Formats: sequence, C-alpha cells, structure tokens
Amino acid sequence: MARNVLIVYAHQSPCSFNAALKDAAVEVLQKQGCQVTVSDLYSLNFKASATAEDVIGELKDPEHFHYGEETMLAWQEGHLSPDIMEEQKKVKAADLIIFQFPMYWFSVPAIMKGWIDRVLTQGFAFTFQAMYNNGIFKEKKAMLSFTTGASQSMYSPAGLNGDLNVTLWPLQNGVLHFCGFQVLAPEISYSPGYCPPEARTQILNSWRKRLEGLWTEKPLTFTPCELFNLSFQGGFMLKDEVQAAQAKKKYGLTVGHHLGKPIPPNNQIKADD
Ligand code: FAD
Repeated sequence: MARNVLIVYAHQSPCSFNAALKDAAVEVLQKQGCQVTVSDLYSLNFKASATAEDVIGELKDPEHFHYGEETMLAWQEGHLSPDIMEEQKKVKAADLIIFQFPMYWFSVPAIMKGWIDRVLTQGFAFTFQAMYNNGIFKEKKAMLSFTTGASQSMYSPAGLNGDLNVTLWPLQNGVLHFCGFQVLAPEISYSPGYCPPEARTQILNSWRKRLEGLWTEKPLTFTPCELFNLSFQGGFMLKDEVQAAQAKKKYGLTVGHHLGKPIPPNNQIKADD
C-alpha cells in the first residue's frame, strides 16, 4: 500500500530555502510512490491561537474556559472547528509527518506552534494512559526538518548558542515522542543564508539522498515508560533498580533523563548505531 506523508510547512516565501527543502521532499517522496500532502500554514492563514472559537457550539464551562478539556470533549463529539478537523484527518492518514520550518527563537515559528497546540488535542493525539512509547501515534513516524540562522559550531556543546540536543528535547520528546511518534533524526540545514551557493546545493542534494532511504532509518532513542514507576505514589520516577543499574554508566540515558551525568552525545540528533 502507498505510504502517506504529511508535510507541515511554515515559511512565508516560495523563494525561501525552506520552500526548496519542502519541494525536494515532495518530489523525492512522490517518486517513491508516496501520497504527499502539504499543509502550507501561512497560505492557509492557519490560526495560531488556542481559543474558545476552536469549539463549535456550547461549551461545558463557559464561565471558566479550559482549552484542553473543552477541545477533548469537542473532539469526542465531532465539533471542533473545521480547520482543526481537517488537519486531524491528515494526521490520521499519515505514516510520516515532516515539520519543515525556519528555527524561530530556538523553536518553531508561532504559526507552527499553533498547529501543535490546536491539532494535537487530548483524546486525538494523547491520553494520560497512552503516551510516549505507548502513545497513540506509535505506528507513525515524525521528524523535524529545519533551517537555522546560526552555524553548526554555534550549536555545539561549547558553542555560543549551546548544545542543539538540549534545544531539540522539548519538541522531539515533549511533543512528538509524547504523542507516541517514532522520531527520526532531525534534518538540520545550518545557516543557508550565510553559506555560498555551492554549499546550499550540497545541502539540498544530501536531503534528497536521505529521503531516498528515510523509511529504513532507525528512530532516535528515548527512555521507555516501562522504566518508570507510573503512579503518583511512585512520583513517575525512574525505578530504583533502573537508577542503580545506571550508576556506573558514563552517560545519562537521554538529554532529559541525564541523571546528573553528561548527556549521551548527539542523543537528539542521531539515532544510536
Ligand atoms: P532564506 O533566506 O529564504 O534562504 C537562504 C538562501 O538560500 C537565500 O540566498 C535564498 O535565495 C537561497 N535559496 C533559496 N532557494 C534555493 C535553492 N533552491 N537553491 C539554492 N539556494 C536557494 N536562527 C537561529 O539559529 N536561532 C533562532 O533562535 C532564530 N530565531 C529567529 C527568530 C525569528 C523571528 C526570525 C525571523 C529568525 C530567526 N532565526 C533564528 C533565523 C532563521 O532561522 C533563519 O533566517 C532561517 O532559518 C533561514 O531560512 P530561510 O528559508 O528563511 O532562508
């Protein structure tokens, strides 16, 4: 069966390097026989703010609006706003989601954060019973593909901006892996605005090459839920025996679960060998 890919794309200009990366992905994936859908967020004028207008009809508690609770109910009853339902349909159909964006303030542009806030509603994208490696989207893959203004060395552990692995943890663990996605290594296009034209051509060629083998890639490593005491009593902490087994190890488990040790090098940038 043909695979479905959704590209959630956030750039204002069709002449941008992000547009070129998006176009390359569409072309290479379509050549593989994939069905590719692009959600071009600026063209859609996608609403970024999570507000009561996202629920059509009556609210459960109009006095004290709770976005999470109201949108979960609206999702269950099928009365979320049509733009959210449209995106949810695309997510449901997708085997892989690629988020293509320029890094803004160490994160995604606001319009893409709005997509995350509004589309990945409770019930649809996660529940507190089904999360992380047991999450709702555990059969799907997702990845970030982004450009930066700063250079690669500026995002190294000794660089001015600090270790990019740390920057990526909230999006890759807190959003994608939280919803269950198998997270593929990010495609990072450093500093296209400051490199010579040949280097930009080289970046595009290497992205195309990677896309050819994307489906066989191993995802990034995260700490599975089974290693934690998943109860309020247990504080949702790593089990004692797991912590004891890690005591002599040189590195922590992941960027977030570092146990006070050095983080495993490139934990959020490269899959383990
Ligand atoms: P563009 O400027 O569109 O393109 C770069 C070059 O590629 C141009 O010369 C263009 O002509 C050329 N090009 C386009 N298409 C092709 C093609 N097909 N082949 C070859 N060349 C091509 N950066 C950080 O590092 N960290 C941050 O936290 C950060 N925060 C930001 C916050 C804001 C609000 C803004 C506006 C910027 C921020 N930046 C940050 C910088 C931003 O990430 C970069 O400007 C952006 O990633 C560059 O990507 P682009 O697609 O916009 O490049």
